[in-house]
Amino acid sequence: MTAVDSPKHKKAKALKSTSRRPAKDLCSECGLCDTYYIHYVKEACAFINQQIAELEAETHGRSRNLENQDDWYFGVHQDMMAARKKQPIPGAQWTGIVSTIAIEMLNRGMVEGVVCVQNTKEDRFQPMPIIARTPEEILAAKVNKPTLSPNLSVLEQIEQSGMKRLLVIGVGCQIQALRAVEKQLGLEKLYVLGTPCVDNVTRAGLQKFLDTTSKSPETVVYYEFMQDFRVHFKHEDGSIETVPFFGLNTKELKDVFAPSCMTCFDYVNSLADLVVGYMGAPFGWQWILVRNDTGQEMLDLVKDQIETQPVNSSGDRRNAVQQSIPAYDKGVTLPMWAAKLMGVVIEKIGPKGLEYARFSIDSHFTRNYLYVKRNYPEKLEAHVPEYAKRIVNQYKLPES
Ligand code: FAD
Repeated sequence: MTAVDSPKHKKAKALKSTSRRPAKDLCSECGLCDTYYIHYVKEACAFINQQIAELEAETHGRSRNLENQDDWYFGVHQDMMAARKKQPIPGAQWTGIVSTIAIEMLNRGMVEGVVCVQNTKEDRFQPMPIIARTPEEILAAKVNKPTLSPNLSVLEQIEQSGMKRLLVIGVGCQIQALRAVEKQLGLEKLYVLGTPCVDNVTRAGLQKFLDTTSKSPETVVYYEFMQDFRVHFKHEDGSIETVPFFGLNTKELKDVFAPSCMTCFDYVNSLADLVVGYMGAPFGWQWILVRNDTGQEMLDLVKDQIETQPVNSSGDRRNAVQQSIPAYDKGVTLPMWAAKLMGVVIEKIGPKGLEYARFSIDSHFTRNYLYVKRNYPEKLEAHVPEYAKRIVNQYKLPES
């Protein structure tokens, strides 16, 4: 291709790392603006131009059916299940289904590279996005980097490398921007393997969370907000520390989450072909959403390596969500003995399976709706997708 017919975006310049981002405080550092694809940012950025329904229709052949509550919550999907690897990958976030699918796709030649995120040598939680070309490089990206991660910063390298078949692993805001520029990438086939994502933080915010919540912040290698209503911290020596959600120091932690995440309504990664999380599955299992035929093709690659069971649902989340709205607003923190007791009770009688997933989605969407209404009232109408408005409308929110 000559300079004359080279696409317009190649003439754009990536922003310097110190420059203010187009989405300003709402930037989730997805990495798009670190490349010449910044040319498309006004259309592509999830926080400037929310367009989930339009991109769902392009990607999956339809957008959410608003008559169907399962679609409100979990997005377009053709199958859903709980799964776990028969032989888990040691050190993966859960059982390593994400890493295993990526490795299979590479080994079978379905893709030439995999966008994923390793960590830097100096810091296990500092994200370092790469295009992996070997199974070892994919394995080295296992486990969550629980921080905003510029996964799309490697997009220029894809075009330069001449790669035609690619797998991208990422969270919702990264994938929304990716789908918006997909046609400009010059690929023959793009596969997208997503994870749900919520309450992400900057590296500094992560430190504050660890320092405020764990007894030994410097030895934490992994953590997860689990279905048993506790945060599980795994330490270097293999020990597990648990802290009940209700004992978190909400007042201290109120401003720890990135503003982008406080305005996000794409918890379940609506635009990925296949989503692998945990929150709709029983404790210890992962939760899989197959959104389209491409996602099914990806899942089929590992069917001999996983066991599956149907998803189930029990309990009623609604009272707990309604009560959590003013409690969060007031920054209520229970004494640890009461938090532990509440944790035990709610684990016994509280929502489970898909109802737990709905509990988590409802709690975050009501909180985020209020955050947008209070801080970005001019964005409320266009930024909150219709399915999220319906979810939020089930609850009574404070007037202001
Ligand atoms: P592994 O095989 O360990 O692979 C993990 C993959 O995640 C790697 O390929 C890596 O490239 C990618 N990755 C790591 N960090 C990031 C990042 N910051 N941005 C983009 N990609 C990354 N699931 C839920 O059900 N509910 C939640 O609330 C939830 N919150 C999450 C929050 C964050 C910040 C992240 C990254 C994930 C979250 N997940 C959530 C997904 C879940 O924690 C697991 O990642 C998922 O189940 C896959 O587990 P695994 O063992 O198969 O992954």
